[in-house]
Amino acid sequence: MYQLIKGQERRGSGGEQPLVDPSTGEELGTVDLASTEDVDAAVAAAGEAYSEWSRLPHVERATIMHKAADILDGQFEELAQAETAECGKAIRLCREFDVPGSIDNVRFFAGAARHLTGMASAEYSGEHTSTIRREPIGVVGSIAPWNYPLQMAAWKVLPAIAAGNTIVLKPSELTPTTSLIFAKAFHEAGAPAGTVNVVAGNGPDAGAHLMRHEDVSMVSFTGSTRVGRTVLEAAATNAKRVHLELGGKAPFVVFDDADLEAAIHGAVAGSLINVGQDCTAATRAIVHRSVLEDFVAGVADLFGRVVIGPTRDEATDMGSLISFDHRDKVAGMVERARGYATVVCGGEAPQSGDLANGAYYRPTLVTDAAPDSEIVRDEIFGPVLVVLPFDDDDEAIRLANDTPYGLAASAWTTDLGRAGRASREIQAGCVWINDHIPIISEMPHGGYKQSGFGKDMSHYSFEEYTQVKHVMTDITGAARKEWHRTIFTT
Ligand code: NAD
Repeated sequence: MYQLIKGQERRGSGGEQPLVDPSTGEELGTVDLASTEDVDAAVAAAGEAYSEWSRLPHVERATIMHKAADILDGQFEELAQAETAECGKAIRLCREFDVPGSIDNVRFFAGAARHLTGMASAEYSGEHTSTIRREPIGVVGSIAPWNYPLQMAAWKVLPAIAAGNTIVLKPSELTPTTSLIFAKAFHEAGAPAGTVNVVAGNGPDAGAHLMRHEDVSMVSFTGSTRVGRTVLEAAATNAKRVHLELGGKAPFVVFDDADLEAAIHGAVAGSLINVGQDCTAATRAIVHRSVLEDFVAGVADLFGRVVIGPTRDEATDMGSLISFDHRDKVAGMVERARGYATVVCGGEAPQSGDLANGAYYRPTLVTDAAPDSEIVRDEIFGPVLVVLPFDDDDEAIRLANDTPYGLAASAWTTDLGRAGRASREIQAGCVWINDHIPIISEMPHGGYKQSGFGKDMSHYSFEEYTQVKHVMTDITGAARKEWHRTIFTT
């Protein structure tokens, strides 16, 4: 049973689909998919829960969320194993990143629930007290992708409920289990039934219906820019609030004064995290020509030493891609690139042994590609790093910004002035200096340009799930107000 509606686990009535471990090709079970009727039931449940949840004293909301965090702590290994099995991720990534990061998020937003910020009340007009109320929005409909199912569930659910909204979350139909475990924890912790609902259906049916639903007041979507555009259109039906976290094509700029060893290690970790299926992953290394050869040699050497192996083995560095279809898409882009660029290493799936049964793909380094080629411009979402040379700082910044995306970027330099210029001029929602990837609950994550708008994590995200109301109270007690003169004088 893959639906959680009004606090109850239910079977979806939208058909079935196999649940597959992409690292072995084995079937783990069958997902019963949510139908549009299941989505309607979930939205109705969220609507019913709203009046109680939104009016709970903030400390009570926070207490329930802290209790959910304790419950999830107790399910740490179950969450890590489910995430590994459905995504093909290496278990070390799940134990050290996905699960602890998500639980830390719960605690952060439990704290945020008790701390509303805004302008101070005052008699700005001289004749009224102006007060700001920050209120929840209503029922939020959220859609999450398969690359970090647990973390994406956390990023969608937590700011929404901390602010007093209720939510219907549609995880990817490929990876529903950890979202269900996550949502159940809030009900076990005492949230009113229907505060957090999960509908595991496919995108064009259940997902599109949720985005269009008249009783949903806000939609938050994380996924591809292509689908994000359809979400924006769907939200227009009743002028919903929209929060979009879309694709990325992050530049990784290495200046000639950079600590090259640090940049090489950073490029390997930054491009191979989650097998490159990370919207902020380093995908375009833009490297000063004077250090290009050493950079390419260093990255190729480390790529060759990355341990690809069984996902449940702690010694494995890199697991499989999410599916065979996706592996074929990544391989197709690399094959086409052979016609116009150089594949320095990788560029193939393991051909023998157990790994040949999974959707694995070797770390791949590409050079000599033109800036307007497919491999440089399009999101690959796989373990592929493309290296482009530059000759001066202006060109480096121009290449970094030469993309429709703007989610994240990094600059590698020991020069404070260059670091300052890069952080100001690179158009991205996050610029790392001398690192690439780290995220933290206190700080926002979100895009510029076609990577979307709206922030996840941090107080910025909490605020997005609230609306601001101005209350203006007359303090003169006068029947005839001074300002009435502007309208009538008798
Ligand atoms: P996707 O856009 O194909 O799917 C994302 C979600 O949307 C899934 O739950 C899917 O079922 C649903 N969906 C698909 N078609 C839909 C439709 N017509 N209407 C409504 N919902 C629909 O993306 P994906 O392949 O699952 O994930 C990879 C993408 O997500 C990449 O582009 C990546 O960059 C992006 N991503 C972005 C962030 C971020 O924070 N900006 C984080 C993670 C992933």
